[in-house]
Amino acid sequence: MRITVLENLMAANQNTAAENRRTLADNNIYAVNIMGSPGCGKTTLLEKTLELLAGKLRAAVIEGDVSTTLDAERLARFGIQVVQINTEPFGGSCHLNARMIAGSLSTLDFKDLDLLFIENVGNLICPAEFDLGEHEKVIVASVAEGEEKPLKYPLMFRRADLVIINKMDLCDRLQTDMRILISNIRKVNPSVQIIELSALTGEGCSLWIDRLQGNFSAFQEPEGR
Ligand code: MG
Ligand code: ZN
Repeated sequence: MRITVLENLMAANQNTAAENRRTLADNNIYAVNIMGSPGCGKTTLLEKTLELLAGKLRAAVIEGDVSTTLDAERLARFGIQVVQINTEPFGGSCHLNARMIAGSLSTLDFKDLDLLFIENVGNLICPAEFDLGEHEKVIVASVAEGEEKPLKYPLMFRRADLVIINKMDLCDRLQTDMRILISNIRKVNPSVQIIELSALTGEGCSLWIDRLQGNFSAFQEPEGR
């Protein structure tokens, strides 16, 4: 019985996610679901991204947190549309689901929008299980988290289209073994793309921005759909 209920829940989420994906495609908006543990630097990455995308692509952000509008306030400084989802009224849910995104989409003005970033709730476990209707999943993993996280939380890394290794400016200080970290990522997802950067200093960020622009261009071509 419990399994049946869970399956129905996931099927409902899947349907809503498919609707979201259609709505986004109809409006030419490419959506990126950004996941990672609390403190890995998702919001800082978005700040740097918005700074670097200015004048190139127009973005909006859906910001997911259990509580507070702190991250949304950080991003609103860039003069973009930001929707804050607080999951506390939904029992403090530790992930976003497709229905929350559908609700947020209905409040966004799609005009002149190219990209939608969804910053998921900081958590390495269940956000990976919920399709939101995004076009790609990006995992932010920082060098401060230890090399073994991909092995401990494999689903998140297995579902990723891109792994961003953040806080590279701290790598020497923390004596992170990048060879081990990358090999652990490859063990759970052999073909995933990996970008090393520091959202704080901007080092390595041009690769990420170029990739976003490339994906957006491919998405706009009908055969890319
Ligand atoms: Mg954040
Ligand atoms: Zn959860």
